[in-house]
Amino acid sequence: MTFQPTLDFARQMDAQDSLRSFRDQYLFPQHQGRKCLYFCGNSLGLQPKKAGEFIKKELQHWQELGVEGHFEGELPWTQYHKSLAPASAHIVGAQADEVIIMNTLTVNLHLMMVSFYRPNAERFKIIMEAGAFPSDQYAVESQVRWHGYDPAEAIVEVAPRPGEALLHTEDILAAIEQHGAQTTLVLFAGLNYYTGQVYDMPAITAAGHRVGAYVGFDLAHAAGNVPLHLHDWGVDFAVWCTYKYINSGPGAPSGAFVHAKHGNKPQTPRFAGWWGHNEERRFLMEKGFDPIPGAAGWQLSNAPILAYAPMRASHDLFLEAGMPALRAKSEKLTAYLEFLIDSLNIDEPRFDIITPRDPAQRGAQLSFLTGPTGKQLFDYLTQNGVICDWREHNLPGEKGEKAGVIRIAPTPMYNSFEDVWRFADLLTKAQL
Ligand SMILES: *Cc1c(COP(=O)(O)O)cnc(C)c1O
Repeated sequence: MTFQPTLDFARQMDAQDSLRSFRDQYLFPQHQGRKCLYFCGNSLGLQPKKAGEFIKKELQHWQELGVEGHFEGELPWTQYHKSLAPASAHIVGAQADEVIIMNTLTVNLHLMMVSFYRPNAERFKIIMEAGAFPSDQYAVESQVRWHGYDPAEAIVEVAPRPGEALLHTEDILAAIEQHGAQTTLVLFAGLNYYTGQVYDMPAITAAGHRVGAYVGFDLAHAAGNVPLHLHDWGVDFAVWCTYKYINSGPGAPSGAFVHAKHGNKPQTPRFAGWWGHNEERRFLMEKGFDPIPGAAGWQLSNAPILAYAPMRASHDLFLEAGMPALRAKSEKLTAYLEFLIDSLNIDEPRFDIITPRDPAQRGAQLSFLTGPTGKQLFDYLTQNGVICDWREHNLPGEKGEKAGVIRIAPTPMYNSFEDVWRFADLLTKAQL
């Protein structure tokens, strides 16, 4: 496809976009009477217009039914989580019984490690990416210590080659091969939050299994963003948050995937609670945990219905749009952003995109290094109604000056080509 750097062209792309009406289903923060240029769906997705309606409905059930709402009404609360399975399964490529929405991401990561990080003297290592999201680093370190191992020995981090920002798949696979005999868990992000790189999940899964390790993914930035086929890839477990690309609200409950090969075995070790217990017998309050088959058997507590409710509004839109169409638009939208940023680099290199150039290795996010005036640029963008993300970053050779990375996530669900054009237009006019 040949892109053009004009507003007319961007509007033409929008006119041809079969998903363009989904934008009208979301509420945008405003700037000077118009919609902000919102590119932070990788941090907190926008509010679906119907989110409030779904919450109100449950408040009303609570008002009308009190405790009986657990068993009565249109969607009894004890069954509510099941209504979240079809879209969750669609988004991550799973069977409905392999997914559960519960807790929050870091909590679920710990729960999954309880099941899938069970070190012993021979096998105690975890292989992960260097520079993983901090919460994941803390979770892994604390698990390792809690089991009595030394993080310096037990955690193997695969880092980019010197002077590079991205990981080579062959380096990941080589690390798995090298440490295989001592490795019990391979744990990667699906998509690195900082660089926007998508890892080769099927290759990593196959390599981990070849050495006899479990393989899990943190899909915080991948779920609702890039194609996922967790069941077919044979991934052992995964976790993700639903407040980023899945637009379910601040601190919304997290998703967890447990492959049927483990989920359907009651003897798979786990931490248990009454909400994971045999539904028919839960309220008999008897001894002896009998897990619900599937990922639902990892639930601990009575579910947060009011926090679930906005997710239903979001899920309806995901099911209506469908991941394949969203991905097709996303590839074009991100490529258009890339094209426009590249055209600003023609005279002098100003914005160094560190996200992979290959569309298959990225999602709806481009991260670019801005040079030493980056923070001023970011402030200028903010003043002009752009909501995006800034991270400090010390570039080698910048004499200690703080430079930074701007992350822009044009999400196919509610961003337009015109949004992307307007953003690039602001970059063009930046006097820095
Ligand atoms: C956003 C994100 C988190 C956040 O974890 P919470 O428990 O939801 O606060 C964790 N890990 C990764 C990789 C993330 O991108």
